[in-house]
Amino acid sequence: MSDFPTGLSEAELLDRVQAPEGEGREILDAATREVLGRAPVQTAEDLDDAIARAKAAQPGWEALGHEKRIELLLAVADAIEANAEGLAHLLSREQGKPLNGPNARFEVGACSAWLRANAATVLEPQILIDDENLHAELVYKAAGVVGAISPWNWPMMISIWQIGPSLRMGNTVVIKPSEYTPLCVLAMVSIMNEVLPADVLIGISGGREVGASLAAHPDVAKIMFTGSTATGRKIIESSAGNLARLTLELGGNDAGIVLPGTDAQAIAQDLFWGAFINTGQTCAAMKRLYVHDSVYDDVVDALAEVAAQMPMGVGLDENNVLGPLQNKAQFDIVSGLVEDAKAHGARIVTGGEPAAELGELFYRPTIVADVTDGVAIVDEEQFGPVLPVIRYSDVDDAFARANAAEVGLGASVWSSDPEEAAQHATRMQSGTVWINSHGGLHPMLPFGGVKGSGYGLEFGVEGLKSVAVTQVVSRPGRKS
Ligand code: NAD
Repeated sequence: MSDFPTGLSEAELLDRVQAPEGEGREILDAATREVLGRAPVQTAEDLDDAIARAKAAQPGWEALGHEKRIELLLAVADAIEANAEGLAHLLSREQGKPLNGPNARFEVGACSAWLRANAATVLEPQILIDDENLHAELVYKAAGVVGAISPWNWPMMISIWQIGPSLRMGNTVVIKPSEYTPLCVLAMVSIMNEVLPADVLIGISGGREVGASLAAHPDVAKIMFTGSTATGRKIIESSAGNLARLTLELGGNDAGIVLPGTDAQAIAQDLFWGAFINTGQTCAAMKRLYVHDSVYDDVVDALAEVAAQMPMGVGLDENNVLGPLQNKAQFDIVSGLVEDAKAHGARIVTGGEPAAELGELFYRPTIVADVTDGVAIVDEEQFGPVLPVIRYSDVDDAFARANAAEVGLGASVWSSDPEEAAQHATRMQSGTVWINSHGGLHPMLPFGGVKGSGYGLEFGVEGLKSVAVTQVVSRPGRKS
């Protein structure tokens, strides 16, 4: 139906969105550190203008109705799919993640898949009372203009998680991608705008101050934020001013617990990807693993064996499945935590140092053993290719230590007896708990954190509710 462009190359996509020569801010290829492009630098005035346009477009978009919006969202998914390879190349270079493995092509594919799921999800009015005296329904309506603020680790997919449900419910969206990865998100937005009516979706390229202005803007009804707990707190503060509703997907320090007697070889591969997906730069990745004494050495050795043979390098090389850290600040956090662990007597089973021969921001996949709670690498989110493995002897104690964290995004329990693991699962204080896997998300399953990991749910029917406002419609009942 739509005549959107197909098969645009990385260079063509870049040309659509980057600042003119001699302007903008340089963005580096995360792997090679060569200049990739120029991010437009937009100001608070540009933001005001974007919000005004989104506000003006919102009633018309809402008035289109669900059926037409579903049709358009499906066409948007097709348009992304038709340009998937160029988008994946741009994403791979800007973010660093390889094309292959659960990385760049996977991420672009997830964008279309999530949009299709948003289109397919139905949020019906809820009949609250229907008797002789009263008929009352709860209806869900658009909130207005949604401000979306996304991070650099899964820049396109997380942006879609914010945009898709919001558009589906009749909101318009102003999105500010991370200043580390604006180009791939702006390129995706430009493809989406080949299909969408004008001003329904507007991308703004700016730094933290633009994010702060967006969060505080009086004409923004809802903020969808994914990023750090520290920034989440600031957004909560600014919502005291504009009373914007918030969905906050914040940091995590996900724990996994391997129960006594578990077969290490059987779980090693899944444990590895549960922690190292996107080279560890994933909110709901496993960041500390508690292993029972009876299988500790086996699990550590099996994990180290998997880690040591995973190809790491430049993302555009089809062979690689692990890439660099996305930015120098994150590289410094990761290497600092490993050095601190060494100073506390931890054993580096594999890795434990930069892979300097690959480039400035590469760090070898690292398994850290003989380390425990109280050491920063366990207590803090590493957000990189490093997993500390902690020995325990008492199962209750392991759950107590896993739950001692101030955050609670995901968690996992591992056992050769999944029934036994299931009996323990809900002891974890987390928004999601997996059995014998970690981090797998599904567009119909609500996703969100507890404690310091934020509040509000994304995905599925719950995700649609969170970008809507409710209204109770009340009228006389059947007897009148
Ligand atoms: P960040 O909080 O530094 O930045 C996220 C976004 O917020 C960026 O677009 C940034 O420009 C913007 N921002 C910065 N200061 C702001 C302010 N005062 N007001 C409004 N916006 C502001 O986070 P990051 O470093 O990009 O991402 C890494 C963090 O995100 C990790 O802690 C990770 O766990 C978390 N994360 C969570 C999820 C999840 O779903 N829970 C997913 C991905 C990442």
